[in-house]
Amino acid sequence: MLVVQKYGGTSVETPEKILSVAQKVSQAYDEGNQIVVVVSAMGKTTNYLIDLLHKVNRDPNPREYDMVVSTGEQISIALLASAMSKMGKQAVSLTGFQAGIDTDSNHARAKLKRVYRGKILSLLDEGKIPVIAGFQGVSPSGDITTLGRGGSDTTAVAIAYALDADVCEIYTDVDGVYAADPRYVENPRHIEKISYDEMIEMAAHGAKVLHLRAVELARRYRVPLIVRHAHIGGRETRIGEVEKMEEPLVRALTVDEGIAKVVLERVLDKPGIAAKIFKKLADYQISLDMIVQSMHKDGRNDVAFTVAKDDLQDTLNAMNEIKDEVEAKAVHYDDTIAKVSIVGVNILGSPEIIYGMFNTIASEDVNIDMISSSNSRVSCIISKSKIGKVADALAERFKLKAL
Ligand code: ADP
Ligand code: ASP
Ligand code: MG
Repeated sequence: MLVVQKYGGTSVETPEKILSVAQKVSQAYDEGNQIVVVVSAMGKTTNYLIDLLHKVNRDPNPREYDMVVSTGEQISIALLASAMSKMGKQAVSLTGFQAGIDTDSNHARAKLKRVYRGKILSLLDEGKIPVIAGFQGVSPSGDITTLGRGGSDTTAVAIAYALDADVCEIYTDVDGVYAADPRYVENPRHIEKISYDEMIEMAAHGAKVLHLRAVELARRYRVPLIVRHAHIGGRETRIGEVEKMEEPLVRALTVDEGIAKVVLERVLDKPGIAAKIFKKLADYQISLDMIVQSMHKDGRNDVAFTVAKDDLQDTLNAMNEIKDEVEAKAVHYDDTIAKVSIVGVNILGSPEIIYGMFNTIASEDVNIDMISSSNSRVSCIISKSKIGKVADALAERFKLKAL
């Protein structure tokens, strides 16, 4: 088998853990597999590098940001390759550039364009184990880019697709995907198998166990994904095609605290205003989540939307540039919100489930600030301070806890 194995930051956070990962990779190799390893930066290295950069410049040039943050992965690939050579294996560390990973030039949130597989395949043909830096690539102008926080999963899936690998295994600090984030809900149910679509909704709305773009890519190219604990054997979660069930069922709950709300107060109520606002956000390459327009009687509207907290500063800059043109009275933001979502195929078609969600939140005496939905998800924005009790109550209500 040709297997891509991705190890996340917590799985390689100490020299001991790197040695243990090296052991695991060696074992899979000795069983007769061809292995390509993708690795993240050790522990909280990426956070440390970002803090370091912000100490010298709060608003760094994006090219220099990528140059700094990509170094974390460069350390872990060389450490892991060195640990493997101690075990008698011929491992070769490769940066994104060396591995042939091309991206566009959107620094800090670059999109993958192509993985040239020649270099990786020739190493595999020689019986070697490529150890590739996750999260990074190279732009058309030859500059180092990064894919956005958590992006190593996406590197792994892209490589698995490029090599036509049999499976892409994601090793992390949990033994699979749970029906709720274990940090918010005590004793959630373990999920053995989940569809790409449900996993995409989970990843898009806070379950950071997998990077959203990794699951989207896996679905598009039908790459089978498996999530396992890096150091403890046992359970796993398979993400792939799952037979459709007739009955809508809440499969999982997600929490996202990494968002902020931005409000343009009392903009003009006439054709073209929303287009102007969102064109500006498109120019800044800012992804949106919820959008709500509320009407006033005086020919003015409030436009509110949510963005990732990491994009808040850029969003405020963008809105301040457009504020006068759309005659907004003010631009506000609120970063003390959180989003709780329930996920399951076709749940929007089930009025009992929708009622169950709103009723549970009301029973906790919590106000809902914004609501959005898709066919297989309903999300509510509430105050961040209430998120723990609401997540727990919803997990009870929809039987998302282990028996
Ligand atoms: P890595 O460093 O390996 O990429 P991450 O921290 O990105 O690991 O992802 C693993 C974390 O995702 C877990 O520690 C867990 O807290 C979190 N997580 C969020 N939602 C879920 C979920 N539904 N099931 C499992 N883990 C989840
Ligand atoms: N090291 C990067 C981050 O912390 C990429 C990753 O871990 O997937 O976001
Ligand atoms: Mg991750």
